[in-house]
Amino acid sequence: MADNHYVSYTENLMKYMKLDQKGNAMAEYIWIDAHGHVRSKSKTVTEIPKDGFKPEDLPVWNFDGSSTDQAPGDNSDTYLRPVAVYPDPMRGVPNILVLAECWNADGTPNKFNHRHECAKLMEAHADHKPWFGLEQEYTLFDMEDRPYGWPKNGFPAPQGPYYCGVGAGRVMCRDIVDAHYKACLYAGIKISGTNAEVMPAQWEFQVGPCEGIEMGDQLWMARFLLHRVAEEFGAKISVQPKPIPGDWNGAGLHTNFSTKEMRVEGGMKHIEAAIKKLEGRHKEHIAVYGEGNDLRLTGRHETGAIDSFSYGVANRGASIRIPRDCAAKGYGYFEDRRPASNGDPYQITGIMMETIFGAAK
Ligand code: ADP
Ligand code: MN
Ligand code: MN
Ligand code: MN
Ligand code: MN
Repeated sequence: MADNHYVSYTENLMKYMKLDQKGNAMAEYIWIDAHGHVRSKSKTVTEIPKDGFKPEDLPVWNFDGSSTDQAPGDNSDTYLRPVAVYPDPMRGVPNILVLAECWNADGTPNKFNHRHECAKLMEAHADHKPWFGLEQEYTLFDMEDRPYGWPKNGFPAPQGPYYCGVGAGRVMCRDIVDAHYKACLYAGIKISGTNAEVMPAQWEFQVGPCEGIEMGDQLWMARFLLHRVAEEFGAKISVQPKPIPGDWNGAGLHTNFSTKEMRVEGGMKHIEAAIKKLEGRHKEHIAVYGEGNDLRLTGRHETGAIDSFSYGVANRGASIRIPRDCAAKGYGYFEDRRPASNGDPYQITGIMMETIFGAAK
């Protein structure tokens, strides 16, 4: 589906990608900017540890925070502290992707470094072994900013045939979806599946279960890989919660959650207790569950309304859904359906921990 420019670019590139690197590794440092978008830049690492790279082997680096709205121009150095390392599916061995936290020159966490708080909460409550599974919905756009494969004038036929669709005219961009899936597996991302969504050109992938801070790290890396793969195919990724107004489904980041107490017999009382706590802080949660979520959480198109909290077994119109088989067994996990597709997984998983177990000391 990609046009020839992108295909030939990739084929030419392969000739150079095969060249010997003379013992050096390319490290792509990745961070999150002021707008919840990923940024990255490359650094040559001249020594490759025999037992593989660990974050502590990699130097702290920096970037111009004034160019990303993360720092003022007169004090623009922003520091990148490596926190996780993954094999690089684009460049191959021995090259790596380095997820980094942003820190200010005075040694305080950058305003947009939501990982720092999240990690403290995960650390404080680690004994509950919190597991998360995130369902990232997103929409592919072409370079003219139309949803990929939509007619130049007008709209596709109404929703119905597209969800988990098979066949031309029903799904678009399966090449990008599969390339991303493979890239995630190569990088060690715990991607648990993909599916075409209800709106044409909209897809979902799931990551999890992941324990603690690993959830945010893995989802951000999966997002980076999605933007990076789609870049090669000439498609734009949108995580807007309501990319097309009207009778078209919005996009969410359903957050599945369990603790070790919830996952064993008698777990339902822990699930219910957690849901009660979530009910008491509905507004605080909505505040960090993504921007523009009011356009999505209308109470229609498989959502609960933004101004009311509700829960139910197998209810896709509620804020919280308890899966049918969990209710039948009496233990398992629950799904918070409120987060928008553009929410920050560190903020989402962090506030869930804070609400259910209390602030970090
Ligand atoms: P849905 O039926 O809502 O579309 P999906 O199958 O798309 O659900 O996603 C479910 C997610 O929940 C997956 O990422 C999966 O790994 C995760 N998950 C499964 N079991 C648990 C659990 N016990 N705790 C937390 N997450 C879980
Ligand atoms: Mn420069
Ligand atoms: Mn799903
Ligand atoms: Mn979905
Ligand atoms: Mn779901």
